[in-house]
Amino acid sequence: MQIPRPFAIAIDDLGWMDGENEGYLGKGPYRVGIKRKMDISDYEAVISLAKKVGVRLQGLFILGELDRENVARNIPTITPTQTVWKDTKSSLQIEVMDLVKSHSANLEFGLHGVGHEYWPDDSGFFKRAEWYNLDDKKPWPEQSIRTHLDCFVKIMAQYEMTAVHNHSFPKTFVPCAYSYYWNPSPSFGEYSMGAILKEYGVRYANTDFTMIPECSPPIDGGFDQGVHVMNRFNYGNLWHMIGQLPMIPIKYQNTDFIETHWPNLLAQDTFLQEEVTQKWVDYYREVNNHPKRYCSKNTAQHHSQFLYCKYTKLTKKEHSIVIDNTEMPMDDQHQTVAQNLVLKIPIDRTKNEHFQQISLDGKAIPAYFEFDDYAYLFLPKLSNQKYTLDYTIGKQLPQDIVWHDSTCNINTIDFPKDQIRINGIFYGEQSIQFLTKKEIHSVNSNNPLLEILSWKKTSNGIDISFSAKDMQGVKADLLLGFQTG
Ligand SMILES: [Zn+2]
Repeated sequence: MQIPRPFAIAIDDLGWMDGENEGYLGKGPYRVGIKRKMDISDYEAVISLAKKVGVRLQGLFILGELDRENVARNIPTITPTQTVWKDTKSSLQIEVMDLVKSHSANLEFGLHGVGHEYWPDDSGFFKRAEWYNLDDKKPWPEQSIRTHLDCFVKIMAQYEMTAVHNHSFPKTFVPCAYSYYWNPSPSFGEYSMGAILKEYGVRYANTDFTMIPECSPPIDGGFDQGVHVMNRFNYGNLWHMIGQLPMIPIKYQNTDFIETHWPNLLAQDTFLQEEVTQKWVDYYREVNNHPKRYCSKNTAQHHSQFLYCKYTKLTKKEHSIVIDNTEMPMDDQHQTVAQNLVLKIPIDRTKNEHFQQISLDGKAIPAYFEFDDYAYLFLPKLSNQKYTLDYTIGKQLPQDIVWHDSTCNINTIDFPKDQIRINGIFYGEQSIQFLTKKEIHSVNSNNPLLEILSWKKTSNGIDISFSAKDMQGVKADLLLGFQTG
């Protein structure tokens, strides 16, 4: 028995207002590779897919053309000439960023870059790419990298994406054109890209490691001073291909992140969009039906599962599973990333089978879900030890557990007096379902950044609608009060 490998796509190059690629001429940047203006519907298509497959898709944003105050103009390495960035403010820019902010349940706002390339001198020609000099195989100056990050922060602020408005800096980074400077143990006079990214708030990154052989990155991923960097490949859906899915079959894909670019999820014209989105929905279903893979709900969960796949062993017994997590490193870096663990076990839903009772070393697990021929068990963060998961299969749904069809991370559940406490990271505006027969009389959050909008009783328990104020997610406890006796 195996821990299922996580599957997620990373979507590069969101944020461009103009789709036309100028990169092949060496002066203007690589953009989307579609010769038209990008529109609000191009974002709606991505969000619609995410909703249909029940995940929070990883979006990687370029902010250069969303710069309404021309803050990028003063930084020569971000722009080829003074005229590249349109200084016209448009209502579409506001509309796009409002949409992104209000749909953080299904679309993650990740860091990609400002200008995408790097203009080292006044020749007008760029080098690839924004975060590392791939052409000459050497890093850009540290101060320059910081200037680019500061510029990203300043453009975010033009849309009230600031701490004052409760928003954090992106937690995810994907370098433009794989320009990652992998140097986790810098010598005197060098810097670690991870250390700088972490200062700003980044915790996760993915890139194609084969593009920087001179940096000798670990092909199976690793930590760069607090940032967990995973490898990713392109499986045939090239960056400019409209409506193109990976061509290499899922069973041959050996990275857990699948590279995609915005056009891969879009259609030639509006009337064809539904068809393209459906192809991706079917693709996600194919992943779900693969016995050793599952679709991770969000980036944090994806990275967590990656570590469990690497270090944790399962042994199946008759009505139990022994989980050996003794190999998991106990350092801060691993312990920060390894959170909840997902198990995927076949059940016969045609016979109305459920995991009726589940316990991990005698304690409740926080969340459960069923889809197609599988049950998904969400375990809490594991310590450096062996556990036994006991279960019974029956006709009843499990009780006092989250029915996990949201995109949040449900990390733990416990039962202080007359209360149920659910700890997790909550994203955007959505709802979670809790299976219970208890008489719930109150639902509260212990963090003002997680607002409970409403809750109602359902046939199986309760349904809680909430709004997480930070678009990068809010860590909080949900407290459910119930009547005893
Ligand atoms: Zn890109």
